[in-house]
Amino acid sequence: MDQWTVAVLGDGGVGKTALAVQFTLNCFLNFPILAETYDPTIEDAYRKRYIVDNRMCFVEVIDTAGQEEYATLRDPWIQEGRGFILVYSIASWSTFNRLEVFRQSVRRAKRGAPILMLVGNKCDKAFEREVSKEEGAALVRQFGCEFTETSAKKAKTWNVSLRASFAHYDKR
Ligand code: GDP
Ligand code: MG
Repeated sequence: MDQWTVAVLGDGGVGKTALAVQFTLNCFLNFPILAETYDPTIEDAYRKRYIVDNRMCFVEVIDTAGQEEYATLRDPWIQEGRGFILVYSIASWSTFNRLEVFRQSVRRAKRGAPILMLVGNKCDKAFEREVSKEEGAALVRQFGCEFTETSAKKAKTWNVSLRASFAHYDKR
């Protein structure tokens, strides 16, 4: 069985843990798992069996704390990651602004072109939106990766695009 490791990166509070839990366990965490209580040397991993192109795969989602000071500590497992999901909140411009930091930390640690996906989470918060879908789409043209808006709350995760990204990876 194929196993893929996907790391989820992004600012604290954007919903990385909520997305990882929603994707693998199909439920919504309605409270923050605070980054301050997080030991960056111990990352949490969530696992799920997943069917891609009629083949059973095992996806391991690595949930991170999001502080870029820890980027060097993260580097060893960045090496193991096959895919990286960069998450921001559509309701927070500052989290969108910091994506470049995470992209750089992946590029520093990873030789070749890493597989990235951009995810704008909390799309259920329509009235608090600070980042338009067009701004997300413009950034992915620069990053050269897939983009989707998600809501861990409404059980809308990255399934379809993740499949497309990894199908692409396997062809390389
Ligand atoms: P992390 O620091 O990136 O891991 O963020 P968390 O997963 O701990 O989520 C931070 C807060 O945002 C929590 O209160 C979550 O319940 C909330 N949250 C996460 N995803 C969503 C979402 O899609 N919509 C809404 N409305 N809230 C969310
Ligand atoms: Mg978290």
